[in-house]
Amino acid sequence: MSQPDRFEVLVLGSGSGGKLLAWHMGRAGRRTAVVERRWIGGSCRNVNCMPSKNEIHSAKVAALVRHGAEYGVTTGRVAIDMATVRDRKRKMVDHSIAAQLAHYKASGAELIMGSGRFVAPKTLAVRLNDGGTRMLVGDRVFVNIGTHAAIPSVPGLEAVPSPTSKRSSSTICRRISSCSEAATWGSNSPRPIGASVAT
Ligand SMILES: Cc1cc2nc3c(=O)[nH]c(=O)nc-3n(C[C@H](O)[C@H](O)[C@H](O)COP(=O)(O)OP(=O)(O)OC[C@H]3O[C@@H](n4cnc5c(N)ncnc54)[C@H](O)[C@@H]3O)c2cc1C
Repeated sequence: MSQPDRFEVLVLGSGSGGKLLAWHMGRAGRRTAVVERRWIGGSCRNVNCMPSKNEIHSAKVAALVRHGAEYGVTTGRVAIDMATVRDRKRKMVDHSIAAQLAHYKASGAELIMGSGRFVAPKTLAVRLNDGGTRMLVGDRVFVNIGTHAAIPSVPGLEAVPSPTSKRSSSTICRRISSCSEAATWGSNSPRPIGASVAT
């Protein structure tokens, strides 16, 4: 086996904490690497917090328009174009990824795309996404491999399709109009049990 690459700071997972730590350490002149298997910048920016809020925002606009007459605003026929809703979200995610990559470049921290696992103390074997394996050792190793959404056992909740790290809001809200009712409750307010956002 080849000699591992040595880093002063090695981070497994590029989520919120890991990437900030890496950029800071990189800027401070430490030889730093981050191993990320899929989501540059973690799940929040790619599939969870920001994309879901982006789509919910479209749903809020749809809900406002739908209830416009109550506010003295009348419109003609309103159509919702789901492809545009998704494109808007994807553009935001693409923009976010580009910004993350610029931070890696500016900080000098290396982003290694692949799946890492510990094979010895402070030592990772990384199955690279582009093929092959790379061995990395860190003087200091930080783990930021994230979380998964859990759906609690609350009666009636299973009937409400909700986005998780594995199930995006796009798959739930196939039509934004179906999400717009949920949006009127607000993304941070609890949804009434039994209320569904599915089509
Ligand atoms: C639909 C949805 C909406 C949400 N909205 C909000 C919100 O509005 N506000 C809020 O505060 N929270 C929200 N959350 C929760 C939030 O997304 C998570 O709490 C947060 O992303 C966790 O961040 P993290 O940095 O710990 O992990 P993550 O962002 O998950 O980062 C971990 C990274 O490690 C990588 N990784 C894991 N294992 C390996 C490995 N072996 N090798 C290489 N890489 C690996 C993963 O690919 C991932 O990119 C939401 C969650 C969901 C499901």
